[in-house]
Formats: sequence, C-alpha cells, structure tokens
Amino acid sequence: MSVLDSFRLDGKVAVVTGGNRGLGMAFTRALAEAGARVVIAARDVPRSDRVAGELGVSAVATDVTDASSVAAMLETVAEQHGPIDILINNAGVCFHSPALAVPAEEWRAVWDVNVDGLWNCCRVVGAQMVSRGSGVIVNIGSLSGLVVNRPQMQPAYNASKAAVHQLTKSLAAEWAPYGVRVNALAPGYVKTELAPVDRPEFRRHWIEDAPMQRYAMPDELGPSLVYLASDASSFMTGAVLVVDGGYSLF
Ligand code: NDP
Repeated sequence: MSVLDSFRLDGKVAVVTGGNRGLGMAFTRALAEAGARVVIAARDVPRSDRVAGELGVSAVATDVTDASSVAAMLETVAEQHGPIDILINNAGVCFHSPALAVPAEEWRAVWDVNVDGLWNCCRVVGAQMVSRGSGVIVNIGSLSGLVVNRPQMQPAYNASKAAVHQLTKSLAAEWAPYGVRVNALAPGYVKTELAPVDRPEFRRHWIEDAPMQRYAMPDELGPSLVYLASDASSFMTGAVLVVDGGYSLF
C-alpha cells in the first residue's frame, strides 16, 4: 500500500457524534473526502440533515447521554450502511465557572456528555467492533486534559477531558487483542461555537501565550483525524495526539 493510500477510507462506515457543526462538521467532511460513508450522530435533527445534505453524508438523531439512543443509532446505521468501522467521539460541552460557583447541574451536564456520553458510545459501538475483531475509535480530548486553561476557570471540563484521555488508554489496552484501536485527538484553541476564541478578554492568554500566536480553524484538524482513523496509524493505539499550535509547550 502506498503512503497516501494508507490514509484512504473507501468503503468504511464512520460515525461522528456531534458532527453537525464546529470540529465535528470538519471531521465529517474530512472522513467523507477520504472515502468513508459518514453518519452524523447529534440531537439537532434539522441542522444535522442540512449539514448531511451539504456534505453528501447521512444523519441519525442521537443523544449520546442516553445509552438506548446510542443503541438505536447503531441499529439504524447497521440497517442503512452496515457495521461501524470508525467511531469519532466528538460531542462535547463546556461551561466557564470558577470551582465554587459551578452549579451542580452544570457539573453533571459536562460529565453526562463528555464522559458518560463517550462511554456509552464506546461500549455500544465497541461491543460490535470487539465481536467483529476490527474497528477504530478516536476520542476527542483536549488541551484542557493536559493543562489548566486561563483566565477562565472550567474545572468540570478540564477534569472531563483528562478522563477522556485516560479512558482512551484503558480501552486501547483492553481492546488491542481484539483488533480495535483507540486513540485520542487533543486540539488546542479552535474557532467554534464552544470556544469564543475571538473575544478580546481571551486574547492575552489564549493567543499571545501560544508559540504560533493564533487559534486554528476546524478544517485544520481534519487531516490529523483522518490519520488516526485510517491505516496510516495502524501501529498506534492509546495515544493522545496533541494538535495545539504549541500551546502546551510553555
Ligand atoms: P460545538 O459546540 O461547536 O459542537 C458540539 C457538538 O456536540 C454539536 O454538534 C452538538 O450537536 C454535539 N452534542 C452536544 N451534546 C450532545 C449530545 N448529548 N448528544 C449528541 N451530540 C451532542 O463544539 P466544538 O466543535 O468546539 O467541539 C467538539 C469537540 O472538540 C468537543 O468534544 C470539545 O470538547 C472538543 N474540543 C474543542 C476545542 C475548541 O477549541 N473548539 C478544543 C479542544 C477540544 P447537537 O446540539 O445537535 O446535539
């Protein structure tokens, strides 16, 4: 296989949770361009259908916090496309609140989506992959799983992304004997609805502190995602690939 062919995903079935906007939409586009049949799994059905139409992919209404919704998604994808070869656990939420001001429901909401939701998807789709003896999972972690962001405090989010990284390693170790690879992609600041990278109060720490002195656009992360999802990374499992413009160097 040539080097560039190892990045191809022709005939593969890929699911991207939260694939209807931001980084997830960029991942959906990248996987589709690499040849995969991609399914967007998110809650906002009109938005998912619109984006799916634009990108020539399909969409299934899914709430990752509800294990029965994830199981129903798996069934629908199986009927329409076949078993899932690639799972991208991208759905995530973030709130800015200092520790003593975090409302209980905010803490719960972050963990429900970022950790329990990812766990639901790994378990439901992972069971199918383990029984088939093949599959690739890419969990979207974060720079926030490695450093504490400033000036805004976001303890729930930071802890949830550290959990994503360690869960990635745990599942990678457990499922390697079954032919299932599990890696994480940890982006730095990327311009999306989740990250207000343009706001002046964040410029000092988010942009000027970073070696590259800028944020990323979502499509810049697509090639790294395709690398992790494809045979190009065939000997890689349990890794956290940091793509942050050098932010975590200082
Ligand atoms: P956005 O807020 O733009 O998108 C979040 C996506 O998650 C939406 O598509 C949303 O779709 C989906 N989602 C939220 N809750 C659920 C749920 N319960 N079930 C299914 N889907 C859900 O965020 P980003 O694109 O910025 O972030 C994507 C991922 O990248 C997240 O995991 C985030 O933590 C991570 N990340 C982002 C960085 C950044 O700078 N932007 C940096 C590092 C990591 P819907 O509402 O339709 O369900």
